[in-house]
This record gives sequence, C-alpha cells and structure tokens, in this order.
Amino acid sequence: MTHDRTSSLLARAQAHSLEYLRQLADRDVDARASRDQLVSALQVPLTAAGEDDAAVIDLLAAQAGQGTVASGSPRYFGFVVGGTYPVALAADWLVSTWDQNAGINVLSPLVSVAEEVAGDWLLDLFDLPRESEVGFATGCQMANFTCLAAARHGVLRRVGWNVEADGLYDAPRINIVSSAESHITIDVALRYLGFGTRIQKRVESDAQGRMRADKLREMMATLEGPTIICAQAGNVNTGAFDPLREIGEIAQAHGAWLHVDGAFGLWARTSAAHRALADGMELADSWATDAHKWLNTPYDCGVAIVRHAQDHHDAMTSSAAYLIQTQGPERDAVDWVPEFSRRARGIPVYATLRTLGRDGVSALVDNCCARARQMGELLGRIDGVRVLNDVVLNQVLVRFGDDDETTRAVITGVQKDGTCWLGGTVWHGMAAMRVSVSNWQTSELDVERSAEAIARVFAGLRQR
Ligand SMILES: *Cc1c(COP(=O)(O)O)cnc(C)c1O
Repeated sequence: MTHDRTSSLLARAQAHSLEYLRQLADRDVDARASRDQLVSALQVPLTAAGEDDAAVIDLLAAQAGQGTVASGSPRYFGFVVGGTYPVALAADWLVSTWDQNAGINVLSPLVSVAEEVAGDWLLDLFDLPRESEVGFATGCQMANFTCLAAARHGVLRRVGWNVEADGLYDAPRINIVSSAESHITIDVALRYLGFGTRIQKRVESDAQGRMRADKLREMMATLEGPTIICAQAGNVNTGAFDPLREIGEIAQAHGAWLHVDGAFGLWARTSAAHRALADGMELADSWATDAHKWLNTPYDCGVAIVRHAQDHHDAMTSSAAYLIQTQGPERDAVDWVPEFSRRARGIPVYATLRTLGRDGVSALVDNCCARARQMGELLGRIDGVRVLNDVVLNQVLVRFGDDDETTRAVITGVQKDGTCWLGGTVWHGMAAMRVSVSNWQTSELDVERSAEAIARVFAGLRQR
C-alpha cells in the first residue's frame, strides 16, 4: 500500500518533470508570474489535517511554468548558472531517493567512495597536485570559505599558532591580499572567518579586470608575516584570468598562501584551447570552483580543493565520542567541508564526469566559449553597439549607444521580450549588458535567435 502510494506519486512527479523539461527550450525565459499571483496560489492557512499528497505535487507543478525562471534554458545568459545534464538529474534523483547522510563513511560507504573517486577525477581534469584533498560544499561561496579557513590555519600553523584552539584575538596578524576585482564571496568568506572585509589589501587591476602582477610585487615588498593572496580565474564580468603564473611565483617567493577563486574559470583547465589562460594555476595552495555552474550538475555543488591535506583537515574536522569516524583508508566527508549532515552532492558529479569523459568536458567548455564569441561578433556588428571586453572565455560585456540609459533600456526590453534572458552590470563606470554562456545545450541557433531579439529591441528604442 505504502509502496503503491510512493510509486504513483513518483510517477506523477516524473510526468511533471518531463513536461517541464519538454517546454524549457521554447518557453519565455523570464518568469511570468508576479509575486501577487504566486502568493495567491500558494499562501493558504496551514491545515490541521493536511492535504492530499498528489494534489500538493500537482499544485506546485502547476506553478512551475510561470513562477520559475527558465535558468536551464539554452538561451539563459543571465548569470553563470549552467543547466543540468540528463545524467546529472537522474543521478540527483537517486541521491534524493537514497537520502544518505554524506557526512561520514559509516553512514554511507557508497557515497564516501564515489565522492573520493569524483574528487580524484577532478584533480586529474584540472591537472592540480594529486596529493590535494577535495571537499564538496554547497557552492563556491562555501568552497572559498573552506579554502580560506585552511589557509588561515596553514599560515598561522607555520608561525606556531593554532587558530582552531586559540582563535584570532592574540594571533599574529595575517595580511590578506586580494584584487580590486575579487568576487564578493571572498568578502563574505573573510567575514565568516573573523577577518572582516576592510582588512583586505587590494591590488589594482587592469582594463580587463586582471590583478596587476607588478602592483602585487610592489605590495608584497612592503609586507611581513603570514600572508594569504586571493587571486581569480574568471572575472565575473569579463571572464579574464589573473596572471596566475606570475602571481604564483610571487607568492612562493614570499612564502604566502595563494588561493584561486575559479568558480567557473577553473574549467578552462580542461580544454586544450583555453588552458593557457589558467597557466600557472597549479602553483597555488587552494582552489575553489563549482560543479553546478559549468559542469551543468543541479544545485547545489561547489568544490574546495586544498594542496595541504593536513591544514584542510585540521580547519574542518570535528569529532565526538558518539561518532564512529573512520580509522582506515575510508573517507569521512565531514573532515573536508563545513557541513556535517549534507546531501550526496558528489554523486551527480561522479555520474556526469563518467558519462562525459575528458573529451566531453572539454567540448562543453569549448562550445560555450565559441557561443560567447559568436554572440560578441553578432552584436558587435550592429551599428551603435560596442563589445567592451576581450572575449577570452564565456563572458561578453556589451554597451548600446553612448549612454547608460540606452543600455539599461535594452536589457529591460530583452527581458520582457522573453526570447533570452540576460542582466546588466557596471563595468569601469559604464552600464553594460552581461552575457554568460554556460549551458550544455546552447547552440549556434540559440545565439542567433537571441542576438536577433537583442538587435530588435535596440532598433525599437532607436526609433522612438
Ligand atoms: C558564482 C561565483 C562565486 C560564488 O559561487 P556560488 O556557487 O554562488 O556560491 C564565487 N566566485 C565567482 C568568481 C563566481 O562566479
């Protein structure tokens, strides 16, 4: 009886899911339901007796087409969000079905081993030091946090201070060096770690948003004591990479810990055509990235990679008498990420990597970059349109006319039009449209259709 109920409910959910996916590529990309409409559909007094489960699933599914943004659409260019490969989704269903607590091996040997293997594959794909440890966190925010916690531990350990036991109050001061263009999640990680954000010593960046190595060298000459440098692979606006080899050499010369935020940029390492951008990245001490962005696995999945296993372990581990933690070669995930109980988010990574293989991953990266170049070329040909960045990866910044107002109006107009979705940014004082290509399905035709829609909106504004 219970089993029948489960089967019919899951069959229902599957039918709704398939219908959603079938419509995804053709529907308006933006959400069409207003807050008021969603509130009136969802906000009812919580009943005492509860309601029929199938009816609840049907009701949620009925709102999905209107109330979700089609961020899995091949014409969603708004943020670097990626879509979901079929195999990643299927594996994620298994994860929910198994409902494993991925925190410790004794709760799920399967998850422990699958995540260990997926972590090794990632080190191989990114060609990072094989002795590194890998943790699957919720996203790059927490991956940055994890890596910087390991960094804090490591640089203080080297000067004889145990930050996990003795905290920061009387600790030797740590220099935190970051670029003027570092991602906001670096700020947040520094807040979580008790450093605050103002402590950062910002290194000037160049016209593409890359940290200037000459300025870093000058700054490092003035610093003494434990130092953490935060560099970036893949600027959120331009896709540009900091000069990682030079930065790595400077960090090594000063005995500083180098952390690289490569939420999407790390994936350039998997492609022969784009690897040069990330040259020297292997000199760093820690790297943070996401699978839910460019690898097109579902939310949530960030990846923290740390070269120094002991520092990583000591910054994250927890233990208690009632926990049965492994003493053998088995791996307890709790030692490598902030979360204790968590879903088995490494499983979709395992399934996706195994399905794509090395060539599949690099083809995914190359295709997105080619589509970004195509978008840049198509838009750049339009009179009055200017591409502001060198399109080196998957990001394109575009300006319409000579004022911020026109650019903002084009962005709003395109969002309303619904053919594709993209957002805006301010780049070096100028409003710009920001195009990010990170979906496995985005085709030449999708880019053509989207560029046409953008051109149409711009032409319409000019006629007024
Ligand atoms: C998206 C992004 C992050 C944050 O990642 P989440 O997965 O959203 O936590 C950090 N850094 C960069 C460069 C990003 O693009």
